[in-house]
Amino acid sequence: MSFYIQFLGTGSALPTLNQHPTSQFIFCQNRYFLIDCGEGTQIQLRKRSVKIQKLDAIFISHLHGDHYFGLVGLLSSMHLLGRVKAISIYGPEMLEKIVRMQLELGGASLGFDLNFFPIEDKFEGLIFEDKVLEVFAFKLKHKIPTHGFVFREKEKERGLLANKFKESGLSLLQIPDLKKGIDVQDEKGVTHPFKKYTTKPKPSSSYAFCSDTAYSESIVSWIAGVDVLYHEATFANKDKARAKATLHSTAEQAAKIAKMAKVKKLYFGHMSARYDDSKAHLREARSHFENTFEAIEGEKVQL
Ligand SMILES: [Zn+2]
Repeated sequence: MSFYIQFLGTGSALPTLNQHPTSQFIFCQNRYFLIDCGEGTQIQLRKRSVKIQKLDAIFISHLHGDHYFGLVGLLSSMHLLGRVKAISIYGPEMLEKIVRMQLELGGASLGFDLNFFPIEDKFEGLIFEDKVLEVFAFKLKHKIPTHGFVFREKEKERGLLANKFKESGLSLLQIPDLKKGIDVQDEKGVTHPFKKYTTKPKPSSSYAFCSDTAYSESIVSWIAGVDVLYHEATFANKDKARAKATLHSTAEQAAKIAKMAKVKKLYFGHMSARYDDSKAHLREARSHFENTFEAIEGEKVQL
């Protein structure tokens, strides 16, 4: 699997014996990312055999405790385990101050750099980009400034038809151009079309994360067409008024957003601990968007 997400914590504010606060691991073409870092995330990472020293970047949606209280603990453990590689942290502007203060007051100095990339409250747009991937942040509707994230793979390179290429007598140095879809010339000046030696690129995938948020149609354009959408569904319909008051969503509202954005698959989580099971959530969501599933801790979802 070259791109997958793994749910580490799918519970809401109050951790229970079976449900942990929000956290997700994202693996994309050998990049290791974490979204949110609720209390106990480092234990969840170990339980799921994710190598924490390989984490490249952490994205924090907002400063409610159930989304980041595990961050300082995770960073401290990375230090104790000998980390020297810098880590990037994307999140609300005040996050850096909070983390550095916690570390300083405890007399801790880490053996690696923390590179903070503050996301201003009203910012929407590109926050991360490399050769294979782009990550965008967009505003959610919550009690304090909160961002959702969408991970979009860039267009992939074309596959090389090795046997055809060998017969061509072209130089190995011309492979990168062919894979990019560029015709090349041999020593005699003869043009070789890239299509003769390559196959179509594999499709690129995308993933959107939206927690926590009230029903908000303004996010639809950001998450349009993603392969997998994770959207919180703290409440079922019978508690719709409570969802509105606390700026959270019902499962039905999450499904309406999924439908409007024409995503392929919806996973919901952050279900309030007041519900014994997810039956009502599933029923209410599926009446609007059939391809809905409950996010289960430990589950990997291939993109
Ligand atoms: Zn929140």
